[in-house]
Amino acid sequence: MKVLLVSSEIYPFAKTGGLADVAGSLPRALKKLGVDVRLAMPLYTRKIDRCRFNLSSTGVQLEFEMAGKRRVGYVDVADYDSMPVYFIDEREFFDRDNLYGTPEGDYEDNWLRFAFFSKAIIEMLKPLGFIPDVIHINDWQTSLVPVYLKEVYSDDGSLSNTKVLLTIHNIAYQGVFGSWVLPQIGLPWSVFHMEALEFYGNVNYLKGGIVYSDAINTVSPTYAKEIQTPEYGYGLEGILRKRSADLYGILNGIDYEAWNPATDQHIFANYSVEDFEEGKSENKKRLLEEQKLPYKPDVPLIGIVSRMAAQKGFDIIKDVLDDIADLELQFVVLGSGDKAYQDMFVDIARRYPDKFAVTIGFDPVLARKIYAASDMFLMPSRYEPCGLGQMIALRYGSIPVVRKTGGLADTIVDYTENPDEGYGFVFEQYEGAALLDAIKRAISTYARRSEWRTIVERGMKLDFSWNASAKKYIELYRKMIVG
Ligand code: ADP
Repeated sequence: MKVLLVSSEIYPFAKTGGLADVAGSLPRALKKLGVDVRLAMPLYTRKIDRCRFNLSSTGVQLEFEMAGKRRVGYVDVADYDSMPVYFIDEREFFDRDNLYGTPEGDYEDNWLRFAFFSKAIIEMLKPLGFIPDVIHINDWQTSLVPVYLKEVYSDDGSLSNTKVLLTIHNIAYQGVFGSWVLPQIGLPWSVFHMEALEFYGNVNYLKGGIVYSDAINTVSPTYAKEIQTPEYGYGLEGILRKRSADLYGILNGIDYEAWNPATDQHIFANYSVEDFEEGKSENKKRLLEEQKLPYKPDVPLIGIVSRMAAQKGFDIIKDVLDDIADLELQFVVLGSGDKAYQDMFVDIARRYPDKFAVTIGFDPVLARKIYAASDMFLMPSRYEPCGLGQMIALRYGSIPVVRKTGGLADTIVDYTENPDEGYGFVFEQYEGAALLDAIKRAISTYARRSEWRTIVERGMKLDFSWNASAKKYIELYRKMIVG
């Protein structure tokens, strides 16, 4: 089985969030199960070190017209765990400081950058001599691949058996642009209607992916159901309901080699389920010292590692932040994003210097230290397609406190309701009071040390690796191929 996974970001080459983690780790699991999987992404020349990753030229040069100009792109390749990764090199589009935009906003030509990328993916296949059974696209940035395939390349016999799977990692990001882009990106006006790319008078790339792909999936079973409702569908619930027979939910996994407290080079002390108590307290002591908080072994430490976006539940944290700060606990927070949320944490750390340590920024090493040192990990998301943070936290013995939504609902079992099986604290209503109650339940359980030991052990023994989910992807690819 030949699969080309296409993504606008892939770890370890370039990452802004969970999409890169998934695009980097799922293929490794597929490869182990015998799939001929290859990857493709843009060559962000300022982010990707040619020497470190040993990039070389494939000799393939792409040439086609887009937005009134003859565009030339080159295809480079690198080896990633015995899988070829193809990089589309076009300097005008991808030689920039960031992937999608600056703190001031998105790049204005994202409509063109990712249309070019999507078309280049199709154009490179024949010259490379690689005709995949399935092109696995991800999010709006690659959603035009099936649209081009069916609208522009339908006479190309060599691609007629190639199927497309679209994975939606977050439906809030759709790639919506003025309808004037259509002729610029080489698509006919016939796609500008409600059952295709038209979306309230604009063009919606993700909607194109949903309509034109052979199958669609999201990254958890619960989110697959949620996005078919107005509350979670961001306007695409109707079209998704129409495609519900081809819509699946497959939970993401995490890479159990990359996230392993027994071998993690970046944490203060390594540990495993056998000796987590000593290991975690050493990590806690050292991190608190580094963060200039007093070490109090009996006071639980709560970690937050998150994009600071409304999606992640910061509004309800804000509603009860003073109540939370009055509890017997400490917080280590890492994140960046909306200024209002950043300011909220900076302010609380100023007011409670013994309880809150806050770092604004993106820091993968500090993130690991927080997973290892914390007793609890807070994710009160308003919506959460899958969420990786709660799975990483469990791997490191930090008990998730989460809202029951999307992938959080699919991965975390509440301890209060299920004392025999639970390993987390779950609340349902998107309200500060419900969040506060869950934190209080976690704190009072923490005080009963043998109970706490049991749930940490339970959490660390769970398996959220890619193994099971990669098999589900293969099953889905197979189903698509046989039609
Ligand atoms: P999302 O993709 O919506 O941001 P996920 O939970 O799926 O959320 O994935 C987030 C990933 O990014 C995790 O690997 C998490 O550790 C990492 N991460 C988030 N914020 C930061 C940060 N400020 N610094 C370092 N890593 C971060």
